[in-house]
Amino acid sequence: MGTADAVQVFLFALLTAVATGIGALPFLFAKHPTHDWLGVSNALASGLMLAASFGLVYEGVAYGLWRTLVGVVWGLGFIVLTRALLQLRKRRPVGFAEMGTLDARKAVLLGGIMTLHSFTEGVGVGVSFGGGQDFGLFITLAIAVHNIPEGLAISLVLVPRGVGVGRAALWSVFSSLPQPLMAVPAFLFVAFFEPLLPIGLGFAGGAMIWMVFSELVPDALEETRSDLVAVVVTLAVAAMVAFQFLIR
Ligand SMILES: [Zn+2]
Repeated sequence: MGTADAVQVFLFALLTAVATGIGALPFLFAKHPTHDWLGVSNALASGLMLAASFGLVYEGVAYGLWRTLVGVVWGLGFIVLTRALLQLRKRRPVGFAEMGTLDARKAVLLGGIMTLHSFTEGVGVGVSFGGGQDFGLFITLAIAVHNIPEGLAISLVLVPRGVGVGRAALWSVFSSLPQPLMAVPAFLFVAFFEPLLPIGLGFAGGAMIWMVFSELVPDALEETRSDLVAVVVTLAVAAMVAFQFLIR
């Protein structure tokens, strides 16, 4: 198992942010991707992230069961509390699908939530490299691929409002910049305080599982049929499990 350094972690996390911009590219060919298409890509993102979250938890368990579980509960508590602070008195959490009906207040709220979302994923990339380079690459790839539909969702709001495809891609990348910025401190933290590695892995896994069911799956269900979402999520999980097994 190779080890990574902080520069590598930064570059890989930057790559995940850049992948978000790929989500704008379909608008070069079609101005209005169908809702089914957006639903399927959100379902794909859900499956990838779900499998990656469990990957983080299992990686943590290899270092220490109880510390990992403490991390999971801590990650869950962190994201639930932060979300609650961001949106007092709102019934369903705001997800990417909500971008269709933006007003100024909602835009600020959504900006905060997207930063939190991306922050969690940055921690995921950083701590996963603490578990070795192969594992870091696996989590980085999962997060990079799932970022593409998120960029698509962002562009779906911007492009019909007259924003150019290039600019929409830049805004998408911008929304993911907390990833490289958070990945490096998270990586250095678990690399220097190794006993905290399982806590960090559990933290990122717990927060990401919550995010799958709070944001990604509801967004997918808003765009397309539940049976199609279920099929795509299941296949994406299976593909990720196979991929994780094959790269080890
Ligand atoms: Zn995400």
